[in-house]
Amino acid sequence: MRKKIVAGNWKMNKTLQEGIDLAIEINKLAVEKADNDVDIIIAPPFIHLTEVGKVIDREHVSLSSQNCASEQQGAFTGEVSAEMLWSAGVDYVIIGHSERRAYYQEDNDILNKKIKLALDNNLKIIFCCGENLEQREANKHFEVIKKQLTETVFTLIKEDFDSIILAYEPIWAIGTGKTATPEQAQEIHKFIRSLISEKFGNDIAQETTILYGGSCKPANAKQLFVNPDVDGGLIGGAALKAEDFIDIVNSFK
Ligand code: PEP
Repeated sequence: MRKKIVAGNWKMNKTLQEGIDLAIEINKLAVEKADNDVDIIIAPPFIHLTEVGKVIDREHVSLSSQNCASEQQGAFTGEVSAEMLWSAGVDYVIIGHSERRAYYQEDNDILNKKIKLALDNNLKIIFCCGENLEQREANKHFEVIKKQLTETVFTLIKEDFDSIILAYEPIWAIGTGKTATPEQAQEIHKFIRSLISEKFGNDIAQETTILYGGSCKPANAKQLFVNPDVDGGLIGGAALKAEDFIDIVNSFK
């Protein structure tokens, strides 16, 4: 049975102390009342990772970074390597988020270097894909997603694909308050699973967790998660409030 996962991407929010407080609150609610069948991941900013790592119980909450460098080490001012993240106790890294692709010009070559380094350093990957509004309106979303995956995670070998969680994040739904309808999410998740099956076989396809991301909140999580190919969520805004985040975790029931 594939894992159900809810992951919170804090983006560039929260001071260090606010981040520690949020992590303590999420951890408390995770221990006290979260659905034990759902894996919880939080992705605070880099600078918070070590301190947040100290206040979470890894039996209940895992730690992710939001990014990693595309180089192993050396003269890359301002960058944080996959090895550093691993050494700080980080479990996952988000790669391919649309904000990184759009604002930091991360193309598939860069993403592939990051994927390789993350895997070499024992990090699991939450890999994001998704179309923009123009592509959706031109009915190109299937094609766009297929290309995004074919040129990145589908170049991996089957054994490495075990460390990949996919997140379908339609760009038009991220931070906009416009959520994909449950039908739209299911349609794309099913399509993504069929692509995995074509590439790596049905067993791997059935085991791969595919998250939905884009204005997911307590009010709509249930309708999204009830779909057979939606295995959880990558949550932005609603991950910044512990109660809302854990309500989303508890939306499978
Ligand atoms: C995200 O950025 O991954 C995201 C899903 O954001 P939001 O939930 O705020 O739309």
